[in-house]
Amino acid sequence: MIPNLYSFVGDTPLVELEVPFGGAEIRLFAKLEMFNPGGSIKDRPASFMIQQGIADGRITNSTHLVESSSGNLAIAIAMIARQMKLEFTAVIDPNVTKNNRELIEIYGAKIEFVDEKDVEGGYLQSRIRRVRRLLDELPNAVWLNQYANPDNRRSHYEGIGEEVVRDMPVEPTHAFVGVSTCGTIMGVARRLREAWPAIRIVAVDVVGSVIFGSPGGQRRLPGIGASRVPEQLDTCEIDEVVYVTDWESMQGCHRLVREEGLLAGGSSGSIIAAIEKMVPRLPHDAVIVTVLPDRGERYLDTVYNSNWLPENERARRPLHDSHRILAKTSRPQSVTQS
Ligand code: PMP
Repeated sequence: MIPNLYSFVGDTPLVELEVPFGGAEIRLFAKLEMFNPGGSIKDRPASFMIQQGIADGRITNSTHLVESSSGNLAIAIAMIARQMKLEFTAVIDPNVTKNNRELIEIYGAKIEFVDEKDVEGGYLQSRIRRVRRLLDELPNAVWLNQYANPDNRRSHYEGIGEEVVRDMPVEPTHAFVGVSTCGTIMGVARRLREAWPAIRIVAVDVVGSVIFGSPGGQRRLPGIGASRVPEQLDTCEIDEVVYVTDWESMQGCHRLVREEGLLAGGSSGSIIAAIEKMVPRLPHDAVIVTVLPDRGERYLDTVYNSNWLPENERARRPLHDSHRILAKTSRPQSVTQS
């Protein structure tokens, strides 16, 4: 039998990159999530959340999926919903790039555009309000809710986590993972620590994101960072946080192109910038595993456009220390339930 397109979600390549970090003998292995059919890591939670919804009866042939996302998740759900002949409405706001909006529409999803700012000056609360209204109005509407749905992190525990444990040729000392909903880091951290208990899990966040208690502020890079603390974040799973700016992320993207011929998305540049900042704190023979979430073509107008960041934002530094060790309490014991 010829497989469905979405059966190709996951099982992405793990490659060793040759990006030099000063004189350090650091080895860097990366999961290339751009190889998913929808072009990003978000194919994994989209397909897993939908499949689990079907398995437990919440999603049927007549379901109308609803999600608040302006980026990769909306594109991934739109692609899978089209293949499964399900209706999908994406709730988006003015921060969506033209490119992403077009992709969501090309896959046939409906768009609900929210442009009234909420009390915090962003659109998130307004988008959630619109989702709730749609759940009342649309027949058979189901909200996947990526910020709180445990199947988001489970998709990464069983996906990227399992594949890294299977494919790494040596034991990693560190994992660097970008954060937004925190589904990736929660799932991957849990699985990697089961295999390698001494591994240090480093979250890569952007200046202006509130996930780890820093003050919110302007952020331009799509996909990474958040203006609310995701329900599924459990900081016990994370050892350290490194903050990078939009400009540093942009430089990281250009380094990946220059050194590796790899055209990756904005948050992949954040990872490279974060490792560079951490080099003085890393053992000289550190073995790092990381996840590069998406491909670069979606960012031609942003991180690959030299006019994207205004001059005054280029030299911007984090207002606070750009590295933080998180206080540890006890780590949760259960595998995928918490
Ligand atoms: N990078 C990119 C490009 C993404 O689209 C996402 C998901 N928003 C992330 C990083 C962070 O992943 P997560 O939401 O699982 O924390």
